[in-house]
Amino acid sequence: MDEKLSEAEVERYCRQMLIEGWGEEGQRRLKRASVAVIGVGGLGSPVSIYLAAAGVGKLVLVDMGNVELSNLNRQVLHWSRDIGRPKVESAKEKIEELNPEVSVEAINERVNEDNVHEIIRKANVVVDAMDNFASRMLVNKACVNEGRVFVHAGVYGFQGQLTTIIPQEGPCLQCIFPHPPPAEEVIPVAASTPGVLGCMQTNEVIKVITGIGKPLVGRLLIYDGEEPRFMIVEVRRSKECPVCGSR
Ligand SMILES: [Zn+2]
Repeated sequence: MDEKLSEAEVERYCRQMLIEGWGEEGQRRLKRASVAVIGVGGLGSPVSIYLAAAGVGKLVLVDMGNVELSNLNRQVLHWSRDIGRPKVESAKEKIEELNPEVSVEAINERVNEDNVHEIIRKANVVVDAMDNFASRMLVNKACVNEGRVFVHAGVYGFQGQLTTIIPQEGPCLQCIFPHPPPAEEVIPVAASTPGVLGCMQTNEVIKVITGIGKPLVGRLLIYDGEEPRFMIVEVRRSKECPVCGSR
């Protein structure tokens, strides 16, 4: 990939390149980067559209769902005309229209034991936009093994949580949630909650790639949209963690 930014790219990204520490170098880092977004629903919609707008060079979108009417209150990358289409295709189309500089690989599969390593090896940073802990833990383990940064978020009603996992530097998802909650068939979600958390995940990804700011490592941010209130609690690595503890 050509590293030099074109005139059009400089114009497209000029407002963020004005930020101290970002500049052309930060923008080139984003262009060189590849980010896997696992799940293209409530969280995956804002994450992938904002990463594309920001100029991440490659997005790997992973989801095997088709767009349903009941998704449309919060999965803002999918519109009424997309009902019945694979989510990754609907997302790829919108992203390419927003920013043709971004290359999008659409993987219409559910993440599983067989494909998880191949998927995350395609990316520098992996975003948890999944809706269940079984899949999250699978991806968490693969990210620890492959040394990939993993940006977790989860939403429920008006509530959400966020943390960034840098393997060996801070706790992994298994350290933080040794007994994850059981899967629920249908969870309540306000339209705006995944928007809030998805934007914050995007922010974490941008910081990790550009080196600006301080990623949310060893800290869990908890959002309560009803009050509203943000809280940050410290979370530690567990020596007994079956995923990252013995290394
Ligand atoms: Zn761990």
